[in-house]
Amino acid sequence: MPGEQKGKYGAWYCGGLQFECQQCGSCCRISGLVWVSPKEIRIISKHMEISEEEFRRSCLIKVGSGFSIGEAKDGSCLMLDSATKRCKIYEVRPEQCSSFPFWPEVLKNPVTWAKEGLLCPGMSRGKLWTYEEIEERKEED
Ligand code: SF4
Repeated sequence: MPGEQKGKYGAWYCGGLQFECQQCGSCCRISGLVWVSPKEIRIISKHMEISEEEFRRSCLIKVGSGFSIGEAKDGSCLMLDSATKRCKIYEVRPEQCSSFPFWPEVLKNPVTWAKEGLLCPGMSRGKLWTYEEIEERKEED
């Protein structure tokens, strides 16, 4: 686009954004694909003290050439502990989860950020993430 500013000072969130997970579990109850890479499969199965084969068989679904964490009947993530509402693998959760909400589609503009914030009470509160930290997270997505 002519005249479009690139880089930090062209970004609407150049002053940073607040986000701190409140551990409410809402995002884990939304049906959708949660991609896990071969490396993540290795790390998570080790954390769960089961074989990769067992983890794939009991917790993952094959989607194309990749794997996603499966869902319970109500659409919630299989890794969500229904009693505590906490992620059972939080320390080793997939990159897709740990980079939330700094996803390109959420960071598109203030409206997409605010819209996502209707689902996530951790957005726009708590820790202030700098532009640089956000960009680093975004690239990990
Ligand atoms: S919806 Fe937001 S606050 Fe709740 S668990 Fe997910 S990231 Fe954390």
